[in-house]
Amino acid sequence: MLKIVKNNKKARTGVLNLGGFEVQTPFFMPIATKGAVKNISIEDLQSLGAQIVLGNTYHLWLRPGDELIKQAGGLAEFMNWNGPILTDSGGFQVFSLGARAGKNFGKNGVKLIEEGVEFSDPLDGKKYFMSPEKSIEIQLNLGSNVVMVLDECPPFPCSHDYARKSMELTLRWAARCQKYFQQKAPEGSKRPLLFAIVQGGVYEDLRKECARRLVEMNFDGYAIGGVAVGEPRKHLYEILDWVVDELPQDKPRYLMGLGKPEEIAAAVEAGIDMFDCVIPTREGRHGRLFVWNEENPTMTKILADKNFYQTINIVNKKFEKDFSPIDLNCDCEACQNYSKAYLHHLLKIKEPLFLRLASIHNLNFYLKLMRVLRES
Ligand SMILES: [Zn+2]
Repeated sequence: MLKIVKNNKKARTGVLNLGGFEVQTPFFMPIATKGAVKNISIEDLQSLGAQIVLGNTYHLWLRPGDELIKQAGGLAEFMNWNGPILTDSGGFQVFSLGARAGKNFGKNGVKLIEEGVEFSDPLDGKKYFMSPEKSIEIQLNLGSNVVMVLDECPPFPCSHDYARKSMELTLRWAARCQKYFQQKAPEGSKRPLLFAIVQGGVYEDLRKECARRLVEMNFDGYAIGGVAVGEPRKHLYEILDWVVDELPQDKPRYLMGLGKPEEIAAAVEAGIDMFDCVIPTREGRHGRLFVWNEENPTMTKILADKNFYQTINIVNKKFEKDFSPIDLNCDCEACQNYSKAYLHHLLKIKEPLFLRLASIHNLNFYLKLMRVLRES
């Protein structure tokens, strides 16, 4: 499944075939939430060397609808992306946009039952019901190359008792997703991969048990969920340690929703192959730009010193007359053509061009980080 090219203790580099595309691991997926990576075009993404993008099931189901995207030939075709896509299950958005956002689970019309999750569209109040089967159906309509099971992502903090009940539900839903997927997914080279999601909160026994039981069910890959929900970051490394050892060598491993550059590097060291995160684009939109401190970065240097990069805030007055590029060593369009002073000006007058250049630069930083981690 995952062809491993090189091992370095727990870290590995490899090649994953997704819908006929060869993807080099470990990799980072830019997020095309609603069918577009905010502020940048597919042509931009392709020139940055992105290998795969992530689409959000929840958002695309509500607008423009999975049936319409199916008619267009799938999400990749619809957005003119010549590469593979991964879709999330929609569960995380249902929980976080619905109830969790207000810290009042049960309000806002989000109702969790054995059968699935009921919620209403925050924009027009229309009611929806997401079951494990529905999530898979939507993702198949989107033409996803990596389909995720529907899971329940427990909040942090959460008691052992709650985390166990939630994990059991996640396991039952994973079985339902798998059954539906086996009946409905296309056969042959177009067949997507189906990934399960390891939950279990910050509890070692639950994380290990969840991983073991999912591995027994034999999925195509395994994700670690519930790790960017506000828990102290020390738990991340514990969870990676507990879970990765339970997972098979020849299947890809995906850490969902993370993280800062040093966290990604540490997770690669711990044996993770796949990442997605809003940080590069979201931080960029707010003027926070990633700059390499290390001129010739390697994995060893990155792991040894987390000051291998810094973030600068371009709105800072000290950049008003700084006519040098963001990063002298960066080959992105922003750094090759524009100065910090110009970008500072664009942000101050809220010129949309700033959002594009900042997103391009920060994504280039993340994609280079992954190249460095792959090559060393
Ligand atoms: Zn740049």
